[in-house]
Amino acid sequence: MGEQSSGNAKKAAKAVKKGAPSKAAPATGSTRAKAAGKAASRTASQVVREAAAKPPRNESRTALVRRARRINRELAEVYPYAHPELDFDNPFQLLVATVLSAQTTDLRVNQTTPALFAKYPTPEDLAAANPEEVEEILRPCGFFRAKTRSVIGLSKALVEEFGGEVPGRLEDLVKLPGVGRKTAFVVLGNAFGRPGITVDTHFQRLVRRWQWTDATDPDKIEAAVGSLFPKSDWTDLSHHVIWHGRRICHARKPACGACPIAPLCPAYGEGETDPEKARKLLKYEKGGFPGQRLKPPQSYLDAGGKPAPPLGAA
Ligand code: SF4
Repeated sequence: MGEQSSGNAKKAAKAVKKGAPSKAAPATGSTRAKAAGKAASRTASQVVREAAAKPPRNESRTALVRRARRINRELAEVYPYAHPELDFDNPFQLLVATVLSAQTTDLRVNQTTPALFAKYPTPEDLAAANPEEVEEILRPCGFFRAKTRSVIGLSKALVEEFGGEVPGRLEDLVKLPGVGRKTAFVVLGNAFGRPGITVDTHFQRLVRRWQWTDATDPDKIEAAVGSLFPKSDWTDLSHHVIWHGRRICHARKPACGACPIAPLCPAYGEGETDPEKARKLLKYEKGGFPGQRLKPPQSYLDAGGKPAPPLGAA
């Protein structure tokens, strides 16, 4: 995908330079190309960056829906193996791991939860735990006191109100301590197979870059993006967007020059456009490094029993 990625990015840059709007590039219209032509005093890369970063003008709702769905289809090809990157064996473990993942990486959580679940395998065990001992285990995850309160509190609520089982309904999940809609949708989507949109920090950043919505409130983002896709796409869409944010479309330095959806992105040029330099910014398996899961389930292993792409080299 790397070669194709850089090819697409080059095509997008070329289209802007020539003033020839790409069919798949709503951000690169002729108005912007003319403006780029007049900007003789600026460098070529500045012109490309400024021109491509302007929003698509007058994009109709239909065009937006088409572009959004096309981005999701392209990302499905780039990350056919996208899945939750937290290790878990059951809904309780996924719920706890998701609460712990706030403000830290899934890898850090995956390194921490084996000790937690070995000592406290059930909600009953964690509900009865000594908080100081749990804090010691959770210390590497950051905010360990608050996270300890949440996981013990939610375990108590599971025991007292749900018979020790994780409920499979949004309205029940969000009543648990430390559980918001984002966490609830991760659990519903990945432990219960119920469609949900996970609006985390990556999701918020990317959908704004793609101008799917200009909302900043997570609930409004969820509603706006949800309206662009059939419900059945929501869970996989969330994985695709989050994986793209973690690997290519970073917060500070998006690797635009190695981005397979550059021709569809109004924010192309916000990051590094040079293909060689952009490739060096890629993370996890796209950069030839390990992924975040330490214990992938069998379904994420290839036919030979080796880790599928998320854990292997690119
Ligand atoms: S890396 Fe992000 S900002 Fe850059 S082209 Fe790709 S999706 Fe757009």
